[in-house]
Amino acid sequence: MKVFKFGGASVKDAAAVRNVGEILKRFEGENIAVVVSAMGKTTNALELLTRSYFDRDGQTEGHLNKLRAYHMAILEELFESKNHPVYTDVNNALVEIEWVIEDEPQRSFDFEYDQMVSVGETLSTKIVSHYLKSVGVENRWVDVRDVLRTDNTYRKAQVDWDMSRQLVDRFLKPNFTEASNGGITISQGFVGGTSENFSTTLGREGSDYTAAIFAYLLDAKEVTIWKDVPGMLNADPKYFDETEKLNHISYKEAIELAYYGATVIHPKTIKPLQNQGIPLRVRSFVDPEAEGTLIDQRTDSDSLIPSFIFKMNQTLISIAPRDFSFIVEHNLRDIFETFNRFGTTINTMQNSAISFSVSVDGEQEQLQELIEALKADYAVRYNEALELVTIRHYDQATMERVTIGKKVLLEQRTRTTVRLLMQDESA
Ligand code: ASP
Ligand code: MG
Repeated sequence: MKVFKFGGASVKDAAAVRNVGEILKRFEGENIAVVVSAMGKTTNALELLTRSYFDRDGQTEGHLNKLRAYHMAILEELFESKNHPVYTDVNNALVEIEWVIEDEPQRSFDFEYDQMVSVGETLSTKIVSHYLKSVGVENRWVDVRDVLRTDNTYRKAQVDWDMSRQLVDRFLKPNFTEASNGGITISQGFVGGTSENFSTTLGREGSDYTAAIFAYLLDAKEVTIWKDVPGMLNADPKYFDETEKLNHISYKEAIELAYYGATVIHPKTIKPLQNQGIPLRVRSFVDPEAEGTLIDQRTDSDSLIPSFIFKMNQTLISIAPRDFSFIVEHNLRDIFETFNRFGTTINTMQNSAISFSVSVDGEQEQLQELIEALKADYAVRYNEALELVTIRHYDQATMERVTIGKKVLLEQRTRTTVRLLMQDESA
């Protein structure tokens, strides 16, 4: 059996949902667990709705109406009859939100967030499941909360692998092992359920991870993530003109790319697949004939094409003892402790005799406070609006290419990776 994942962009409107139907028809007779994200930008909209509900800003109803209108417009295009049962399912899902927002928030923001935001995936999977049936693609809708058990760390739920395995064996597997001529299940990405039947979420963009969890627990032959790009590219087209597709990379390379900030695949996705040796394909839902990118254990093509990962708006912070003494272990301990306390992720770091420099994402609320805290014991200088470029499998030409018109403030090289923190020369 296989696992497919369709993200928000692949179900963003009626035409996109029809396209999902076309793709699944190509795999007729196969056993496929299909994981679907919320439609288009629904998760962002639900985040705003939850915020508004907590802030009591009087806009919550308006957010809900917009969300309803968006989904209704898609339904009207996909289903001829207003009496189609999909309308009941969609209304039932929206009623869950209505009920919540009638009262004041009772529990933590993170708890309420998960109860509300997870509705996005309920809506999308109900619609996709009904639509597929209406065009002859038989399938079973599975409530992911019945099979993917997590702890109750809302918004960052941790998977209970043992319990999930039991639930998957009981409620999901039979759909594939007992089906004589193929079985398709449609289930929600990004969402899990606690032992008390509350919804949890796995972190933004977590549907890829759901696909990997299912693949691991079902011992799938492969996972395909269907995207609006031809596969994994060697750079984000936003920052780079002549991107190239990576035809094949290893799990290890994919993890490295994600670590340095490549955003094509959710970082937690690879590990479960690697553990079980399940290949991952990233393919285009626009061009389903095309090969896409294959990710598996083989490392032989990792270094064929250099990859570029850009992080914009970096701040370089240089920290030095006030008395010009050396930076030693206890200073580093204090400095790391401070970063940890503010929950600030360090992107690069470098030390010299009398100073320690780190770069961090510049757009963080707590950054100014962090800098103030460091200033209590250290002399602190910082530089803003920098750009961090990581090049995997670099050579001189690639380095020259990204540094044109830039002043390099920090450079780190290993045999495979170079990282450059740069400032626009015009700045
Ligand atoms: N719908 C969720 C999000 O937008 C999960 C996902 O798309 O992977 O973050
Ligand atoms: Mg998404």
